Amino acid sequence: MGVTKHSFVLVTGESWNGQHQGDIIRINVGDGFLAYDRLQTIRHELRHAYQYDVMADSIAHSEIKSTIDSWKTCSEKYGGSYVTFDGTNWMQYVTQPIEADAREFAGQPAY
Ligand SMILES: [Zn+2]
Repeated sequence: MGVTKHSFVLVTGESWNGQHQGDIIRINVGDGFLAYDRLQTIRHELRHAYQYDVMADSIAHSEIKSTIDSWKTCSEKYGGSYVTFDGTNWMQYVTQPIEADAREFAGQPAY
């Protein structure tokens, strides 16, 4: 077991608030995003980092198998598929288990 190192990268000029890809967490610190939204975004993306560590079983955790399995349905690494928000599929995007969990953790509205 070894904890994965996640890198934080601050970006500007993107239309999204945050992004977690591989081991890199990108946070948009450009104009137009409120400080509170940014904090929620950081919490949300850190939760994704946690989810990936749990799925990889690289950290101690207390998540139950059904939760982990539901997250894996959203990860191609584990044979699932992740729905990327394309501007039209908001409900499909936010209700997939990995996003619903991150939104709940970050205190963001469910939908
Ligand atoms: Zn997310």
